[in-house]
Amino acid sequence: MSEIATARPPDAPALDAAALRAQFPALSPPHERGVAFLDSAATTQKPRVVLAALERAYVETYGAIARGVYRLSAEATAAYEGARERAARFLGGAADEVVFVRGTTEAINLVAASWGRTHLAPGDEILVTGLEHHSNLVPWQLAAQATDARIVVAPIDDRGEVDLEAVERHLAGGRVRIVALAHVSNALGTIVPVEKICALARPAGAVTVVDGAQAAPRLPVDVRQLGCDFYAFSGHKAYGPNGIGVLWGHRDRLAEMPPWQGGGGMIREVNFDRSTFLDPPQRFEAGTPAGPEAVGLAAALDWIDGVGRAAIDAHERALVAHASERLAGIPGLRFIGTARQRTALVSFVLAGAHAHDIGTILDAASVAVRVGHHCAQPVMDRFGVTATVRASFGVYTTEAEIEALGRAVERARRMLTG
Ligand code: PMP
Repeated sequence: MSEIATARPPDAPALDAAALRAQFPALSPPHERGVAFLDSAATTQKPRVVLAALERAYVETYGAIARGVYRLSAEATAAYEGARERAARFLGGAADEVVFVRGTTEAINLVAASWGRTHLAPGDEILVTGLEHHSNLVPWQLAAQATDARIVVAPIDDRGEVDLEAVERHLAGGRVRIVALAHVSNALGTIVPVEKICALARPAGAVTVVDGAQAAPRLPVDVRQLGCDFYAFSGHKAYGPNGIGVLWGHRDRLAEMPPWQGGGGMIREVNFDRSTFLDPPQRFEAGTPAGPEAVGLAAALDWIDGVGRAAIDAHERALVAHASERLAGIPGLRFIGTARQRTALVSFVLAGAHAHDIGTILDAASVAVRVGHHCAQPVMDRFGVTATVRASFGVYTTEAEIEALGRAVERARRMLTG
C-alpha cells in the first residue's frame, strides 16, 4: 500500500454521515435493505430534497419548455433556465456557457462531434491519458477516424498517476489540438492535476476537455481556475436525477461550434434548403429539454453545496484511507491504483480469485460493489488484469460499511483461495 496522502487534514470541515444518510429514503427505513451500497462511483442514491424537487417540477410547474405562451410553460421555462444558472454557479462559469445534456457521455460526444470534427485536420493529435473511461476515449476515436487525426496517450505509472513529462513531450510536438482528460479516475481514484495540465496545454494551442464525472460530486470545481475549455459531469453521479448532465464550454469555444444534432428548439429559421441556428447554449439542445430533471439536478447541486464540497472531499478521502488500511492486511490483496492524491474508491484484486466471484460473495454478505473493467479496459491492460473489485463511496458512506467490506473480503478470500 502506498503512503496515504488521502488522510483527512486536521482542519477539514466535519461531516455527519449518519445524519446525512437519514436524508436518503433508499438508505433509511422502510426502504433500506441492510446493504452496504459501495457503488456510488457508478451512480448515487438520491436525497429527499432532490426527489421532492422532481415531484414539484412534475406536479406544480410542468409544461413545455420554451414552446408555450401559457403560464405553466413560462414557469417551467423559468425553472429550467434557473437550473442552468445554478449549474453555472456550481462550476464557476456563466449560464450561457452551460449546455444541458443527458450525461458525461453525451457531453463528450457533443464536443468530439462538433468542435472535434470541424477543427481537426489530418495529422492532428488528440492527447488522452492512460486512465480514461471509455466515454472519454471512444468519441475521440470516432472524431479521429472522421478527420484522419490520431490519438496519442500520456501513460500512467504503477501508482496510476499520469506521466506529466509525457504530456509535455506530446504537447512540444506541436500537433496536439485537443487534450481530453479525467479529473478523477473511476477505475483508480487518481485525482489528475487538471489545472497543471491545462496550463501546459493552453500555450501549446490545445483545447482541454475535462471529464468531471467523478470529480464534480466530491471536489470543489472552478472551471476558470482550472483553465479548461470544456467540463462535463452527470447528474446521476452527483445525487441528482438520471438523464441529465452538464457540459460547460468556454463562451469562445461554444461560439465556434456548429450544431451536432438538429431539431426543435435550436433553430432561428428553417426552410427546405437550409436553416439558421440559435446561439449557444440553445444551439446544442435540440428536442424537448429534460426540464424537471434539470430542476432536480439544481436541487442536488444546492444540496451538495449545503453539505459543502470541502467537507465531502475530506470525508471521502478519509474513507479511502480507512478502506486502504482495512484491506491492506489481507493476504494476496493487491490494490490497483495507489496514487498519492486519490479519492472516491478503492480498487483491488485478490490472488487466486476472480473479481466476479468476489463480487458474488460480497453480495451475499450484503455488500454491493462493482466488479469488472469499469469501462476502462486500457487501465486494466496497464495493470495486467482483466477486472478488479471496486468499492466506491459517497457522502452517506459510513465507517461501519467499510468494516463490513473488510469482513466480506476476508470471507471471500477464505472461500475462494482456501
Ligand atoms: N467518465 C467517468 C470517469 C465515469 O466514471 C463515467 C461513468 N461511469 C462516465 C464518464 C460516463 O458517465 P455517464 O454514463 O453518466 O454518461
